[in-house]
Amino acid sequence: MIALSLAEIAAVVGGQTHDIPDPSVQVTGPVVRDSREVVPGSLFAAFVGERVDGHDYARAVVEAGAVAVLASRPVGVPAIVVADVQTALGALARHVVRRLGATLVGLTGSAGKTSTKDLIAQVLRRKAPTVFTPGSLNNEIGLPLTALSATEETRFLVLEMGARGIGHIRYLAELTPPRIGLVLNVGTAHIGEFGGREQIAQAKGELVEALPEDGAAILNADDPLVKAMAARTKAKVVLFGESAEADVRAENVRLTDSGQPAFRLHTPSGASDVTMRLYGEHHVSNALAAAAVAHELGMSAEEIATALSEAGSLSRWRMEVTERPDGVTIVNDAYNANPESMRAALRALAAMGKGRRTWAVLGKMAELGDEALAEHDAVGRLAVRLNVSKLVAVGGIEASWLQLGAYNEGSWGEESVHVSDAQAAIDLLRSELRPGDVVLVKASRSVGLESVAQALTETG
Ligand code: ATP
Ligand code: MG
Repeated sequence: MIALSLAEIAAVVGGQTHDIPDPSVQVTGPVVRDSREVVPGSLFAAFVGERVDGHDYARAVVEAGAVAVLASRPVGVPAIVVADVQTALGALARHVVRRLGATLVGLTGSAGKTSTKDLIAQVLRRKAPTVFTPGSLNNEIGLPLTALSATEETRFLVLEMGARGIGHIRYLAELTPPRIGLVLNVGTAHIGEFGGREQIAQAKGELVEALPEDGAAILNADDPLVKAMAARTKAKVVLFGESAEADVRAENVRLTDSGQPAFRLHTPSGASDVTMRLYGEHHVSNALAAAAVAHELGMSAEEIATALSEAGSLSRWRMEVTERPDGVTIVNDAYNANPESMRAALRALAAMGKGRRTWAVLGKMAELGDEALAEHDAVGRLAVRLNVSKLVAVGGIEASWLQLGAYNEGSWGEESVHVSDAQAAIDLLRSELRPGDVVLVKASRSVGLESVAQALTETG
């Protein structure tokens, strides 16, 4: 963080100082909410959670070097006391980003935010110091904490913005106003909470409404609901996608034999070839989005293509490939699932597993509403069409729909099994896997199939 005195922080957040002998003492950062992350110079934000109350750690964090606690009541150690810690954190973030010399990039979408944010960061940091959201901390607490981790050197601040309803992105964009706003897609994630795709589009589009005239709205030309957001912004519009009208587009998109996407990247400044290290064709769209941001920030097609080709995954459980010593390959994509990413993952599995025995260990895709049966059935069918050797459907009713789709497509017999839970899947695979097999593990977050991927990775 940029250094600020306690007096200045108290003024910015409208707080009262308590037990502070010298208000000119500076917080040099970081601002943290987890007491274990406190280092000398920190400001500790005390949140009251369901199980723990941050205020209980006040003494411990000060002993560990925290300069003060941002708290909602006096705690007997140096504190800035405010009515609401979250609001105060937001106000502080807004104050700090105004003083930074950094360009803010905000991105949202239904799927691929974290993957794309990680790509953008890996491209931009070749050009200049870049700070970005760690993991998926994309809400009203994670976003200010990330913004506050920027320093005077930071040139690019890349912020993942999540929305669970109307007004959420508007709020985040007020705290940390982006100059570049990227909307990836409008899918069905969290559709239950929103009500429908139109409402999701309404909510995500708040990002481009917040952009200034000299900003840039980076929009997906392949997603009609995203493309239509062009009408909601004063900023310049830059389209990315595979369609010919896109300013930043991919040609000759294919999967390599190992299942990694390759394409020719076209930007208004030139063209260059990309072969990704990441798996799954959905990363083409994510890569184009990242390329459009980087182009807007002055990078050449060659620089962008090189960076995209070298970019790895910075976040866990997203098409994470592990080669076991016995020659079994485990593909852990257990972070989450939706119909698009299920299809992409299955196609990557098929490409990686050419001439090998392939296993798809799949669980339910959540939040699909009325589409749930049809979407699970379609995934089961696709597994058969792609010649996946074995389908292991894990869990309740949705798993049986996956299996049903497979039966209906190919009148499968033993190629498809339905097991009740993760442990049953682990037991089955431990006894059945042979050297050379490739195993994909994927389901929605709530299923927690990473336990399967981890158990299988550790065996062998
Ligand atoms: P969250 O809302 O949980 O923060 P996110 O938007 O950050 O999710 P990621 O974590 O990047 O998304 O990816 C979540 C899942 O979506 C992964 O399993 C991945 O396979 C899939 N995915 C990634 N990019 C895309 C895309 N462009 N289209 C569809 N699915 C995608
Ligand atoms: Mg995320």
